Amino acid sequence: MENDTAINIFDLSRNLLQKETEIELLQQTFTEIGSELDLDKVFQIVSERARELISADTLLIPLLDDNCITYTYRGGSGENSTEIVGESLPIEFGVCGWVWKHKRPWWQGMLDELSSEEKNRWEKEVGNMILVPLQGKQHFLGGIAGLNKTGGGSFDKKDLNLLQLFASIVSVAIENAMAVKNMEASHRLNEDYRYRLEIVNKQLVESSKELEYLSLFDSVTALPNRTLLYDRLAREISEVERQNSTVGILLIDIDSFKDFNDALGHDRGDDLLNKIARRFEENINNSETLARLGGDEFLVVLPDKNLAQVKQHAEKFISGLKNEFTIGQQNIVVSASIGVALYPDHGDSISQLLSHADLAMHEAKSSKLDVCIYNPENDHSAKSLLAMIADIRNSLERKQFRLHYQPKVDAKSGKVVAVEALGRWTSKRHGEVSPTIFISVLEDNGLIDEYTYWAIETALQQAKEWKEKFGIIRVAVNLSPQTLLHPGFKENIEKIIKSKEDGSLLTFEITENLFLSEFDRLANVLQHVRALNVELSIDDYGTGYSSLSRLRRLPVSELKIDQSFIKAMVDNKDDQVIVHSTIELAHNLGLTVVAEGVETQAALDLLVSLGCDVIQGYLISKPLALSELEAFIDAKHKQLV
Ligand code: C2E
Ligand code: MG
Ligand code: MG
Repeated sequence: MENDTAINIFDLSRNLLQKETEIELLQQTFTEIGSELDLDKVFQIVSERARELISADTLLIPLLDDNCITYTYRGGSGENSTEIVGESLPIEFGVCGWVWKHKRPWWQGMLDELSSEEKNRWEKEVGNMILVPLQGKQHFLGGIAGLNKTGGGSFDKKDLNLLQLFASIVSVAIENAMAVKNMEASHRLNEDYRYRLEIVNKQLVESSKELEYLSLFDSVTALPNRTLLYDRLAREISEVERQNSTVGILLIDIDSFKDFNDALGHDRGDDLLNKIARRFEENINNSETLARLGGDEFLVVLPDKNLAQVKQHAEKFISGLKNEFTIGQQNIVVSASIGVALYPDHGDSISQLLSHADLAMHEAKSSKLDVCIYNPENDHSAKSLLAMIADIRNSLERKQFRLHYQPKVDAKSGKVVAVEALGRWTSKRHGEVSPTIFISVLEDNGLIDEYTYWAIETALQQAKEWKEKFGIIRVAVNLSPQTLLHPGFKENIEKIIKSKEDGSLLTFEITENLFLSEFDRLANVLQHVRALNVELSIDDYGTGYSSLSRLRRLPVSELKIDQSFIKAMVDNKDDQVIVHSTIELAHNLGLTVVAEGVETQAALDLLVSLGCDVIQGYLISKPLALSELEAFIDAKHKQLV
């Protein structure tokens, strides 16, 4: 009994001592890892302390991976631990899988709670093992596992309680350290991104500098390009506006530069341009701008100068070209033509100023002058005409438009078979204006229908009179697509033709371009016109995209091959082939073929040999005023009799 008591006291004091040690150990662990943020160190401390605490041969820390389908032994101590740490296994695997699933600790005593089937399975598999879950504040982390009790035996309830207590203390520390590690990783990632971003940024800055340069400067001459020029010009204009001053503009075009380019080759052509640019630069100061507009065109902006000074300056550029340029072994003499415009006298917008300087430059070229100042009198451009639409309206009201007639002669006999009526207009301010310009102004201002009906009536009346005088001479009138597709056209045309009794003296010339988009509507209108005996002719054939097979579906009887093919045909075999095959095809479709723009005997001979039916062009006659035409027909008839 006494002995028993002695043993009990001994046990008790040993237990107390052990408890003291355990508390000490827990306390120590807690302090050590409480402030430790290095995850590997935390694992090391935890595994060593836990192994000591439960006297295990091996201690392992399996943690769930981020992917949630595997777990990895992240830390460990004792026997074989170094071989196991780092291993990953599927989440459902082994005792760990059981613990993850049930969120309960595993120890020997657990076997009693299992069904006999499960018990058999785990008893064999796990041997002597204890595993408690590690539950962090935010997440389930994994567990702490002890393998094999040191010195034999099994882990008991006390070990389980201790290890659970231990796990609850260290789980927060592990979670913190893991969070720090994640933070560090993302911080490193961030740093890496930032570094890469800096590099990309630097590259971007470099290339945008390069892009900016390329977008503002010309690559051949390194002079400002059109974009930069517009910017500078806009600035100068607003500057002189404040000072009530003027800005001069010189548009310099190198004469026959294309020939130099052809003769020297492209690279040397560029070299020449570059040398010309350097020569021009000698004539400008810091406040002035020299730019290359493209091709062989340069533009100079001269702020704060009057017209006389600007003109004088222009002459300096001309005389600067007097000395030859040396390209390779060759000495080259270059000349230029300069158009001058002044802000605000010659235009109040940049585009107007540039187009007026361009006009003056062309004037200089055509009149073989070095320098020409913009003169509104020479300006026949559609834009300036638009401003004078009132003038056109007035002429229309007073019937001041005229028709000239260009003969179309039979290719073999030379007999005048028809004439083409071409509009003529003399403006009070601009003199003679080309029909391509005034027709487009009429079209743009809704006046084309009125003009066209006048032209048709006049031409038809004329043809009726010629019939009496000379026999049948058809008259062709050009029709704008707009007029043809106007809803009232069928009705109006019927009225006009019936008033003149007969449409069989009339031909309408329609440009080929129209046939693409409005084919069905057009076919309908043309059927109606054909029913009035008016013949239909395809004008400028070859410049559009219509195929002959498509044209065959329209009631047309004549095809006019565009003058560009006729002009090129004599020297160019390809054009000759096109003309030849067009004539053949057109004949197969039962169409009469007219050649426009015949200027030479060689072209005429070729066309006759290719079987062309009708000839029109300056070789036969230019478009003539009424009395001239009648004299021409008279003379022709006498000649042929
Ligand atoms: P288009 O209908 O193709 O008329 C032929 C044009 O070529 C005419 O120019 C004519 O003078 C010109 N031409 C004729 N033979 C030769 C030649 O051998 N060499 C050269 N270089 N040219 C030649 P024009 O009179 O200046 O008319 C130009 C265009 O204006 C016409 O081309 C036509 O599309 C249009 N047009 C003229 N009058 C009218 C009209 O009353 N109404 C409509 N809608 N358009 C018209
Ligand atoms: Mg025509
Ligand atoms: Mg034509």
